[in-house]
Amino acid sequence: MESIPQVGASYPSVQQEVERLAGSAEVCAAFERFRAQESQFALWQMEATRVAAPPFGEATRGAWLADRFREIGLSEVQVDEVGNVFGVRPGYGSRFIALSAHIDTVFPAATPLNIRQQGSRLYGPGVSDNGAGIAAMLAVASILSRARISHGMPFVFIGNVGEEGEGDLRGMRHVFATPRWRDSIAYSLIVDGAGADTVVAEALGSRRFEVIVRGPGGHSWSDFGVPHPILALARAIEIFSQTPVPVSPKTTFNVGVIRGGTSVNSIPESASMRVDLRSTSMSEIDRLERALRLALEQAVAVENMAAAQVKVRKPQAVQSEFVEIGNRPAGELPPDARHGRTRP
Ligand SMILES: [Zn+2]
Repeated sequence: MESIPQVGASYPSVQQEVERLAGSAEVCAAFERFRAQESQFALWQMEATRVAAPPFGEATRGAWLADRFREIGLSEVQVDEVGNVFGVRPGYGSRFIALSAHIDTVFPAATPLNIRQQGSRLYGPGVSDNGAGIAAMLAVASILSRARISHGMPFVFIGNVGEEGEGDLRGMRHVFATPRWRDSIAYSLIVDGAGADTVVAEALGSRRFEVIVRGPGGHSWSDFGVPHPILALARAIEIFSQTPVPVSPKTTFNVGVIRGGTSVNSIPESASMRVDLRSTSMSEIDRLERALRLALEQAVAVENMAAAQVKVRKPQAVQSEFVEIGNRPAGELPPDARHGRTRP
């Protein structure tokens, strides 16, 4: 069995550095300001969340954030062509620390945004994910300015679009496809959701598919025996669901949506499912994808073979289509990432 390195034992210098920083007068003063301005941060959090930001509809919230970046005094405030919002706090050198929060929500455009505060709690759709992240990013940016914290490297604050669902990380993909940022961001810290007790140093990968099976369709009585999309899909699920997955690296699959058919007495012309494959290992995701494709091929072949045995008026076969609807890469930092390995 692999031994798990003890963070404290392996990297005492990190612990010491954190203690030294936490004890410094500048940082203590900054913490005081965080406490003193908590109500301002809560206001920002509620204001941000009251502006709808469904997938591909983040522009208004982006404009709101750009205004806050300017108010705080960040420089080079800009919105890029996909809607990401940037603000810079200058430092020395050309390499940046990026602090980012996604500005989109999972909620569709028509969701009522009844955002409210009761006592010390905030309620409403998206107030945590990622109103909390946006407020935390603004809080850090404003405290760095007001508490006059001295830092070496410059910071770039980024409100990125398209993190949720079908956004498929389009904002961050664009940031790291843009030479200016791809070549200059040395460290990237992402704030997402409420709470500061968990630090994630590995990325869970996911790949998502829409699988569609189409056939001739027909009447349940008079066309009985024609190849059947729902039956083919059900068989594919049955075969695929037997695919073994390792406990470590943790790997999972899910059939999250299934659709098809129009009435109880008709053979459907199509059926579809949405499948989500996840792992911390890219090779496991690749393996699951192969298993899913193979299960579908087998299921379609069996369905067509079965239909061929029966004399039917409509002998056409079922056909399948496999559409990738999401692809997020897996990855993890090397255990010594703290010690200066900023470029792979
Ligand atoms: Zn989130």
